[in-house]
Amino acid sequence: MFALTYVVNVGTYWGAGLAFLAIDLTRPGWSSYFKCQPDKHVTMEVIKKCVKNIVTNQLTTNLITFVAVWPIAKNRLSFSAELPAFTELLWSLAAYAMITEVTFYYSHRMLHIPKLYKLCHKEHHEIKAPFAICALYFHPFEHVTSVLQAIIPALVCKSHVSIALLWICMATFNVLLHHCGYDFEPYWPDSLQPFFKSMTQQHDYHHYAFDKCFGVIGILDWLHGTDAGFTEHYQKWEKAREKEAPKLAASKLSSAKDNDASSSESNSDAAKKPEATNARKRASTPEPRKAI
Ligand SMILES: [Zn+2]
Ligand SMILES: [Zn+2]
Repeated sequence: MFALTYVVNVGTYWGAGLAFLAIDLTRPGWSSYFKCQPDKHVTMEVIKKCVKNIVTNQLTTNLITFVAVWPIAKNRLSFSAELPAFTELLWSLAAYAMITEVTFYYSHRMLHIPKLYKLCHKEHHEIKAPFAICALYFHPFEHVTSVLQAIIPALVCKSHVSIALLWICMATFNVLLHHCGYDFEPYWPDSLQPFFKSMTQQHDYHHYAFDKCFGVIGILDWLHGTDAGFTEHYQKWEKAREKEAPKLAASKLSSAKDNDASSSESNSDAAKKPEATNARKRASTPEPRKAI
């Protein structure tokens, strides 16, 4: 069971992470419509740096944390052969989400205290325009806290191990989604609408603006006023995207016509990335704040 928990965690990360990375590298035409920072694209150099950091952490700090927590997990979790009721699954997931909102918001905000930031969290903020694989690009200490945050909710609720495994899978996917740099709503629900906007947009804004949107759902940012500027930022993004949508559709249509007219030219057409959103610069948005 220990090995399964570790495999679920690491397997979900690389399974989903590489799928998101394929979008970053191939840049299919539809993807630019969803891009949070449309004029920013990750380089191979940054990808290699992140992969090296994450694989090292997963084989060391991640594994050590799992080994250290396992005796506690064996006492706190239920391993009964009978699966929990559906209602238990629902309330457990809702409780986990709230626990994560609290633990992530306050631990993350602590990491922005200047001394801790320089010592630890600065590494994660090297990435100003997030992409999925950078989600666990961390200092080793922060990697430990991130693994603990995925496990703690199930330990607090004394859950059945099946719910704990499902949550680890969901939490790992969500941390990738919130760093992927694409706001897939409404096709992939990612917010508590109408109260809070896309969690991906919130975390993307955190990397962009540095000292805003510390939480996951947005509840504690709203309570503490640390979401200042996010709504305006999101509205500008939405307006810019609406303007580009017809151009993108026209670009797709003309590309389809070209393909019909001459199959020999289709390869060169395919090589051209849809430029509609390349023009969608954030002229009206200030430059990202520099980290301390
Ligand atoms: Zn941060
Ligand atoms: Zn981040």
